[in-house]
Amino acid sequence: MRVYNTLTRSKEEFVPREPGKVAMYVCGPTVYNHIHIGNARTFLSFDVVRRYLEWKGYEVTFVQNITDVDDKIINRANEEGRPAADVARDYTDAFIAAMRALGVADPTVRPFCTETIPQMIGMIERLIDRGHAYVVDGDVYFSVRSFPSYGKLSGRDIDEMRAGARVEVDERKADPLDFALWKAAKPGEPHWPSPWGEGRPGWHIECSVMSEKELGLPFDIHGGGADLVFPHHENELAQSEAATGRPFVRYWMHGGMLQVNAEKMSKSLGNFLLLKDVLERYDANVIRLLMLQTHYRSPLDFSDSRLDETIHAYERLANIVRNLRWARTLSAQGAGAPAEVCSGLRLHVETARRKFETEMDDDFNTAAALAAVFELAKAANIFLAEYQVDLCEEDKAAIGAAESTVVELLGVLGIEVPEPVECCYPAEVFDLARELAGYTGEDAEAAIDALLATRAVARTEKNWALADSVRDGLTRLGFTIEDTPQGARVVYNG
Ligand code: AMP
Ligand code: ZN
Repeated sequence: MRVYNTLTRSKEEFVPREPGKVAMYVCGPTVYNHIHIGNARTFLSFDVVRRYLEWKGYEVTFVQNITDVDDKIINRANEEGRPAADVARDYTDAFIAAMRALGVADPTVRPFCTETIPQMIGMIERLIDRGHAYVVDGDVYFSVRSFPSYGKLSGRDIDEMRAGARVEVDERKADPLDFALWKAAKPGEPHWPSPWGEGRPGWHIECSVMSEKELGLPFDIHGGGADLVFPHHENELAQSEAATGRPFVRYWMHGGMLQVNAEKMSKSLGNFLLLKDVLERYDANVIRLLMLQTHYRSPLDFSDSRLDETIHAYERLANIVRNLRWARTLSAQGAGAPAEVCSGLRLHVETARRKFETEMDDDFNTAAALAAVFELAKAANIFLAEYQVDLCEEDKAAIGAAESTVVELLGVLGIEVPEPVECCYPAEVFDLARELAGYTGEDAEAAIDALLATRAVARTEKNWALADSVRDGLTRLGFTIEDTPQGARVVYNG
């Protein structure tokens, strides 16, 4: 398995520090607002990385922090006239709910910044002791000059950066590139006691501390969006390696930006769509399918029209899966497909599995992996359409293997095709069946069969009004009619 490592700018063979186990950390959100769909893309990409590693048999420890103290949260709290802790708690809850609604699995550990303050103070003290940090008026800064390889992750030249830095407003810093580890509290801000006075941690230090605390060093994968490479991850790396003298991370992974009209989606540009709002309009499976059709490191152009196209792609796929499931109910007493055609389908199942794994092993190429699943689904559907009236046991087994493979591989990507709901049909089905089909029994399946039979007869008699009444009535109650070569059937959408 090969993974692109931002640090070495190359795809490397993935070898976790401990066989069979993967320790990964993905920077979480700053909880001052609802997350936008761009943030969601990054979290989704790493959800798929994790799911795939688990499918491969690794035991994955996935850590994601919540930044619950920060300037933006404080500003928001002032705007809303309530404590910063309330703002942080509400948006943490909203974040967790939106992630679950998108089908993103909960992390193994979810540390909060405000619950890790003593450990952060410990690391800052270590940095001061080792000559990597200095105190000025209650603030503590990391001394970039003290860490010779500063810039190695982002590939920046520290001297060029320094020359490019604008005349530093804060003259208390020894070097314009130095960054805050601890900030003295301003009036009205949340604060904690420290050896340097009341204050709060800088942003970068929390990830260094939490990842080491939960995973130990060096851990396997550190992830985030590409916009975090500099300065956030560069600074995390410098802090951690300077404080411990040990390597920090084995593989740095960064996701490409989600864009609108070729521009990065961001809160500051105002071109953002909130994940929760998109989830109100589109199924999570459709959003996942759209995002995973692009490689995680490439930019992704996002628009409603692309989502609409993806609805059709998802529906086609879901329909095929429903067809294949329905095939389970068919008779297997037929003469069967020619033996080579049936074994051809078996072969297709194996090829799709192999292709899926090969593509995912190549730096998580979800786009190509999905293509393999789509091809298998199509091939199985064509087979079914051709031989469904004449299936033998081997054919049914081959179709079953295709079905379970499609469902399993989609599941690795967190895409689901729900089984149709078969219980709890709405009671109005009986009214409709009585009115249009003269059905007076109490069996919902029989009521639907009666309605479908009425529609079939109405259609042969060109009584379109009656046929349409049956269709419209069932649609209103949440059913979809599907016409198949073996007659019509319904799917109940709940
Ligand atoms: P933030 O709350 O700004 O730290 O962002 C949380 C995560 O979302 C980080 O991993 C960012 O890299 C990522 N992110 C922010 N904007 C985008 C975007 N437009 N596309 C993809 N990821 C993004
Ligand atoms: Zn971080």
